[in-house]
Amino acid sequence: MTSSCLWASSAAPDVQATALQADRAVDVLIVGAGFTGCAAALSLALRGVRVAVLEAKTVGWGASGRTGGQVIPGLKYDPDELEAMFGAELGARMVQAAGAVGDEVFGLIERHAIDCDAQRKGWLQPAYSTRSLDLALQRCDSWQRRGANVGAVDRSRMAQLLGTDHYLGGWEDRRAGHVQPLSYVRGLALAAQRAGAEIYINSPALSLSQQGAKWQVACAQGAVVAAQVLIATNGYTDGLWPGLRRTVVPMMSYQAATVPIAAALGQSILPEGHAASDTRRLLWYFRRDAHGRLIMGGRGPYREDQGADDDQHVRTAVNRLFPQLRNTPFEFHWAGRVAMTQDHIPHLNQLEQGLWAALGYNGRGVGMATLLGRLLADLACGVPAKDIPFPVTSMRPIVGYPFTRLVARALTNYYRLRDTLEAR
Ligand SMILES: Cc1cc2nc3c(=O)[nH]c(=O)nc-3n(C[C@H](O)[C@H](O)[C@H](O)COP(=O)(O)OP(=O)(O)OC[C@H]3O[C@@H](n4cnc5c(N)ncnc54)[C@H](O)[C@@H]3O)c2cc1C
Repeated sequence: MTSSCLWASSAAPDVQATALQADRAVDVLIVGAGFTGCAAALSLALRGVRVAVLEAKTVGWGASGRTGGQVIPGLKYDPDELEAMFGAELGARMVQAAGAVGDEVFGLIERHAIDCDAQRKGWLQPAYSTRSLDLALQRCDSWQRRGANVGAVDRSRMAQLLGTDHYLGGWEDRRAGHVQPLSYVRGLALAAQRAGAEIYINSPALSLSQQGAKWQVACAQGAVVAAQVLIATNGYTDGLWPGLRRTVVPMMSYQAATVPIAAALGQSILPEGHAASDTRRLLWYFRRDAHGRLIMGGRGPYREDQGADDDQHVRTAVNRLFPQLRNTPFEFHWAGRVAMTQDHIPHLNQLEQGLWAALGYNGRGVGMATLLGRLLADLACGVPAKDIPFPVTSMRPIVGYPFTRLVARALTNYYRLRDTLEAR
């Protein structure tokens, strides 16, 4: 079984970095070099803060270098729901911030000239059932009432924009787009380095302890002392801070990319360059890449090591949506951990004085991790939590965590059944 990630084959060059080999002292230390950690590092370095990043493997090795690269504004909940859940004031600021992640991501790409095949051509959420169509149109309406650049898409227009008549219609978010995610995260890291951030790769943070008013993070060959520490490890969170790992449930998401599709065969597929993820509970998400491949994603088995033999789910999706690609082979297969939270909201946690974490993006991390990375930087610079457009909470490990895997498996089967029944 082999796993090969499309993004690694076509990414911008990796940043120059080495392992931590000596003791360092900085103002802020970040653990994890994905979107969260690199966006935080860039934001801090631009403010003149002395910042270092420790990454266990390489920049973007986690979910950031493996995502679908879809930049999707908003959270699982609709704006109306968020305002009901968090109150009119904080709820409205969350809606505004989550709705603006496209500006956040594409703004950074433009300002720092990040070469990452960035395309801001919108995102489609096609509905596979009448019930989910109603919900999708409600969501669209909820954004539209707030002036967002979104619109309902009827059945025939959806068929035209996707290149398949599988769906009943849906909506389009024109604030959205897609990026080559490994190039994007490398670009953030490079911009952070240029602004003065220190990035250390192959440097797992092994322990975290308090040293007077400061924190010390030890690696194999050196330690970093910092006034503030930001943990940005998402679905790859380990035991560095007791209990943090138990605040998210890592679920495997699997993607496969076809060989580049000849124009005659592929010209009707996503002809206007949209990204798409459908309304299934176990959703199918898809887009084209800069070389004309179709990338299809969906749930994967629970194993870490997934490769060509695990493509059944995405092969089914491709064959159903685009039967003309039935004989078009996949060239790349890969998978990674999506960090789910129990409340379906990303978490911005204060763990202790000067110790913060952001994680649990529920599959919306390209935009949201970029945003929460900047918000972590704000917190580290002393911006009061009440001025952050997102709830800053204490860590709440999931009760009965050892059983969450079992529950997740049961839920996956239940969702599959409901998706099937609802599609009838
Ligand atoms: C297959 C897949 C497809 C996805 N598709 C999309 C999509 O299309 N759109 C979207 O918005 N979101 C998508 N997501 C979700 C998104 O990729 C993530 O939410 C986002 O990348 C999280 O970024 P991050 O920086 O918080 O974490 P990560 O990118 O996972 O980075 C965490 C890093 O922390 C490091 N680390 C862990 N422990 C330590 C330690 N002790 N010391 C040092 N380093 C450590 C890890 O090595 C890792 O590199 C997808 C995810 C997957 C897996």
